[in-house]
Amino acid sequence: MIAGNWKMNKEIGAAKSFVMELLPLIEEITGAEILICPPFTVLHPLYELLADSQVHLGAQDVFWEKNGAYTGEISAAMLIDAGCRYVIIGHSERRQVMGETDLNVNKKLITASTAGMIPILCIGETLEERKAQQAEKVVSQQLDQALYGLSLEEGEKLVIAYEPIWAIGTGMNASGQDAQQMSRFIRQRLGQKYGPGAAQAVKVLYGGSVKEENIEEFMQQEDIDGALIGGASLNPVSLANIVRLVGNG
Ligand code: PEP
Repeated sequence: MIAGNWKMNKEIGAAKSFVMELLPLIEEITGAEILICPPFTVLHPLYELLADSQVHLGAQDVFWEKNGAYTGEISAAMLIDAGCRYVIIGHSERRQVMGETDLNVNKKLITASTAGMIPILCIGETLEERKAQQAEKVVSQQLDQALYGLSLEEGEKLVIAYEPIWAIGTGMNASGQDAQQMSRFIRQRLGQKYGPGAAQAVKVLYGGSVKEENIEEFMQQEDIDGALIGGASLNPVSLANIVRLVGNG
């Protein structure tokens, strides 16, 4: 799976041009699940353009209430209505800039999953935590708190993005080996919670300064099923090149 997180970039016109340029570039490629997570305003216009393509749509956030007096928020039903099935939850920028807590993340995840969406849960440690040998402890706490109360029924889909905070948007990616080690750790914890079958069915992505030059290093790792990509997903040619390196054709 290659998932692009556009963050707060691209208005409708630019988003449509991106898609018109991307689609012919990836037309012949098979074997890669492709996802774009644009800003809310662009979801529905892109849904119409992507309807017959292999590119799925995801949102970058969701609120936990169904409707009501929550100014500025968006519900799972609204996202589904706009044509999107995936939703990023707990991105480190939301945790750090908007003060989102593990409890908020948990409520969003349960809400999205109950509504039939596929959550992409982001977890990852800071540089200080890694240097202090606390990375696994932090990641397992984030995982346990985010998934609290989630039953993960058979066939239910969940994506976990391991995104070390120090690697996001810095050009300083984790090594393939370190990303694999954490992804294996995440899968083992999922196995303890839900059993080995369910843990194997969860997609674990790596995110943090992924680009054409390093995607293969991550995809060679046993427990990494794809990447969540910020900066390099904003350019249709680099996204298409990454998809080509991951898929066939
Ligand atoms: C992200 O925003 O999730 C991300 C991984 O960004 P970048 O690829 O730019 O590091």
